[in-house]
Amino acid sequence: MIVLENVSKEFNSKSGTVKAVKQVNIRVNQGEIHGVIGYSGAGKSTLIRCVNLLEKPTEGKVFINGVELTSLPLPKLRKTRNKVGMIFQGFNLLKTATVYDNIAIPLKLLGYNKDEVKKRVEQYLDIVGLTDKHTNYPNQLSGGQKQRVAIARALAQEPEVLLSDEATSALDPETTDSILDLLLKINRELGITILLITHEMNVIQKICDHVYVMENGVIVEQDTAINLFTKP
Ligand code: ADP
Ligand code: ADP
Repeated sequence: MIVLENVSKEFNSKSGTVKAVKQVNIRVNQGEIHGVIGYSGAGKSTLIRCVNLLEKPTEGKVFINGVELTSLPLPKLRKTRNKVGMIFQGFNLLKTATVYDNIAIPLKLLGYNKDEVKKRVEQYLDIVGLTDKHTNYPNQLSGGQKQRVAIARALAQEPEVLLSDEATSALDPETTDSILDLLLKINRELGITILLITHEMNVIQKICDHVYVMENGVIVEQDTAINLFTKP
């Protein structure tokens, strides 16, 4: 479960203070997929980065499965952050590492032994359908395949929740659909709670249980996806 309570984020710069996120409340129950939609500059990216404290909220509280991240001291925060997986528009893969190693290296850094690393890499490569590409380098993969590697890397750390920052925005419509199907499968079969941000209506329509519309840092409207799209 992901809970944001009155989360605000301000940036200070020479030209003044930017209130990127204002008093946002979100509650994603266990096993649900929620989406935040809005135009560029609405504050979506800042908001989702507040969930795993890549950005420290100026105000408010963030809870992951009841644990308040915003009050944790750094060593504990690092551990709890491992429960929060994240995928990005730009995939963020290591160019000089194979598909196998892109998934294995973070696990090794987390201290898992060789057998456990191998077991997890094989298991999650299978789930994302890339077992036969394990020796490829990222530049030998399509965009959709790169995102599958990034998804396997996130899942291999066995997170309780997954954050998606415009994960399909760099992909063509067909590839987008296949990645959305994969996210849906992960949600349904592994029970992983998902919070995503997007500027694409079809992403929301296809997989989200609940939708938040963000404008100028504020959630201006929220509803179930069905209600939002069938309201007069
Ligand atoms: P979105 O993801 O919806 O496009 P962002 O969260 O990226 O929106 O940006 C929201 C607002 O916050 C914008 O006005 C942006 O310029 C500002 N902003 C984002 N990050 C920073 C930063 N590090 N420093 C200053 N302003 C920022
Ligand atoms: P090391 O700890 O030195 O990385 P490993 O035996 O874990 O040694 O792996 C050596 C390399 O062989 C890995 O970096 C990986 O690229 C590849 N490798 C190991 N096991 C597999 C596997 N089951 N499938 C694909 N590649 C593998």
